[in-house]
Amino acid sequence: MKEKNQRILYIICIFVIVFLLIISGCFIYNIFDKSNAVDEPQSFVSQSSVVQSNENFSSNLTSSEETGGLDTKLSKLLLVNPDNALPSDYNYTENLITVDSKYLCGELNQLNKEILPYAIAMMEAASADGIDIRIRSPYRSYEIQERLYNNEVAEWKSKGLSQLDAEIKAATIVARPGTSEHHTGLAIDFNQTNETFEDSEAFQWLLKNAENYGFILRYPEDKQEITKIIYEPWHWRFVGIDVAKEINAKGLCFEEYIEEINNKESVAE
Ligand SMILES: [Zn+2]
Repeated sequence: MKEKNQRILYIICIFVIVFLLIISGCFIYNIFDKSNAVDEPQSFVSQSSVVQSNENFSSNLTSSEETGGLDTKLSKLLLVNPDNALPSDYNYTENLITVDSKYLCGELNQLNKEILPYAIAMMEAASADGIDIRIRSPYRSYEIQERLYNNEVAEWKSKGLSQLDAEIKAATIVARPGTSEHHTGLAIDFNQTNETFEDSEAFQWLLKNAENYGFILRYPEDKQEITKIIYEPWHWRFVGIDVAKEINAKGLCFEEYIEEINNKESVAE
């Protein structure tokens, strides 16, 4: 009898342990599920139908202060330009997500997943204002950039420039492979990538509102000496809401802003 009771007690113990394991498993899964939910673009899409005002809408998006402040090591403050190529071990395809075709007007469809909710919120807000803004060119692989760059070089050579001069000229229009912001998935060309975009309502809307969604005009007309890239009204770069507002308020380009941070850091050290 005593032996039978012990066996029953033993079986009950096994059941309790299994039950506790299942419960803790569910709990851990739930935590991971919630941490991923931040990156889920659909949540912003569904909010857009509820929240009408742009200001209210953007307050749902995380500002850089909440995500670590002015940290140049954060991917959103990654400086990529002719003098700052991506490291050779840079993982080009990490953190990419596919964009719904309704937000696209070009062939390419991948973007950094951290910025997708912001980009969608911005395009939805523009749409609510009657402005059509879509992604022409988001993430580009090294190979695609290489092809674009080689085409640009060939075009300048056909106009009579030497190989070297054609390469130098081409690099001010199409970044050399490895030095394009498009490799990071943090930059977007909107609508049409030519001069006519400057005269569009979409461009005026972006100038006024993009900072509320963390985007800056990356290659302003009056900063070409510093950026070493021609004026590109269509090319916008995600840097976070607080940083975008600060850059615009101070009238800086991204290079100047990063230099300012680096100077502050070296003074502090
Ligand atoms: Zn671009």
